[in-house]
Amino acid sequence: MALSYQEIITRCYCGNGPEKLDKARELYSTYGKSLLAQDRIRASIETLQEAVEALDAHMTAMEMGKNCSVCAATPKGGCCSAYMGHENNDVIQLLMNMLAGVDVRIERTDDVECCFLADNGCILPFKPIFCLNYLCGRIQKESTSAELQKLEVKTGDLLRVQVALEQNIIVALQVDRI
Ligand code: SF4
Ligand code: SF4
Repeated sequence: MALSYQEIITRCYCGNGPEKLDKARELYSTYGKSLLAQDRIRASIETLQEAVEALDAHMTAMEMGKNCSVCAATPKGGCCSAYMGHENNDVIQLLMNMLAGVDVRIERTDDVECCFLADNGCILPFKPIFCLNYLCGRIQKESTSAELQKLEVKTGDLLRVQVALEQNIIVALQVDRI
């Protein structure tokens, strides 16, 4: 049965990380097969995976992981806080990860760091938009302007595709035949 726009908004954009994950699991089990049967959605997922790979490759080349490790080792920690995990994730974005075959699960319940942060980093290839805001002071200080410019371009490319996929899913959930 299709969902109304109002139902989607009420269901998908509130709650903490584990609550959003439960709702994403529900949507996946009810609508996952029909969503993946749509060429447009499968194609957007593939394009998004390519954009994630391109951004990851650039982040590796500019050694961003080094900066984040230094940051994470300070008393205040890195930027993957519990607040970020609860507030910035949403149900559709978690569902997108599931549609891409990711085993989305709660990695920690300490309420200090994001519940999707594993020992080797974030488990979500498709992250909330705010988590892609990598232009923090440390990264700016440690990178060249050419690296930062390329980072902005690749992040923008990724976000465009991610927003398009989100829209495609929201539209599909409202169609009766789903
Ligand atoms: S993105 Fe910036 S603030 Fe976040 S962990 Fe990395 S260096 Fe620290
Ligand atoms: S990047 Fe991943 S682990 Fe970090 S706050 Fe965002 S969702 Fe959580």
